[in-house]
Amino acid sequence: MGDFQLLSHLCTWEYVRLNNIQQNQDKLKSIIEDKFGYLKHLKDNEYIVPDDVFIAYAETVSVAKPFDQDIKVPPEAHYIKQSYLDTNQKRENFVFRLKKLKLSDYDINIYYAIFNTEKIIVLRFSVFKSGFIKISLPHERIHYEIDKLSESELKVIREAEEELIKTRIDFTKAKDEGLLTESEIESHESYKEIARKNPRSAELINSMKAIEVKSPKGFREISISQNWTEFYCYLATGDIYDRAEKLLQRSYPEAYRIFIEMKAKAYQGMR
Ligand SMILES: [Zn+2]
Repeated sequence: MGDFQLLSHLCTWEYVRLNNIQQNQDKLKSIIEDKFGYLKHLKDNEYIVPDDVFIAYAETVSVAKPFDQDIKVPPEAHYIKQSYLDTNQKRENFVFRLKKLKLSDYDINIYYAIFNTEKIIVLRFSVFKSGFIKISLPHERIHYEIDKLSESELKVIREAEEELIKTRIDFTKAKDEGLLTESEIESHESYKEIARKNPRSAELINSMKAIEVKSPKGFREISISQNWTEFYCYLATGDIYDRAEKLLQRSYPEAYRIFIEMKAKAYQGMR
């Protein structure tokens, strides 16, 4: 596709945005299987798109952040800080993929406009049916809230994460201080059993990471290591063991305060 056609898409963008996106969203909402009643909680900057459109988008931008090389499964939802369709090649590629889905030009313009809108959350259709919405919506909302923080607030929560991720704590001490839940104690006891069979020092066996993600660990650990803000998303959705939040509260009260405020906004209307 040449520049001329691409330009025509760009020119219709404002028109599409102002007049037709709402109609498109209303139509989608009328046919979606909203098993858990989450539609009513969506905010103005939160959009839904059919799965095949979402996948076409994810595949188009997969070479850029935040979709990484090794992650083959497209995510369930996406916070768009600023358009990731940021080159002509990606824009053309996205339109090409939408055409392959046999969408009308009208619908292509709508989805093109949605994915070019800044500071929005896009959710794929199936998260409402699968129930993933309960996790993916607050997760993306935390990304949105982090994006709204001031430079100094950002610094506070970033430094807290950088410290905590390096921190190891003493299991016995943490247990005595009431820092651990039953499931954390159980999980560490079973880890110790396995560790004892290997020639390790008693000290290592007795220590645990301050930040430990719950299973499945792989994807989550990678995403936190690549983007520190993911820590706060997973913490908010309960995917990190409780001691991290208790340590945040105890040692980084300002970061904790910011986190609790963001979490309250992320779950607004959902609980
Ligand atoms: Zn994320």
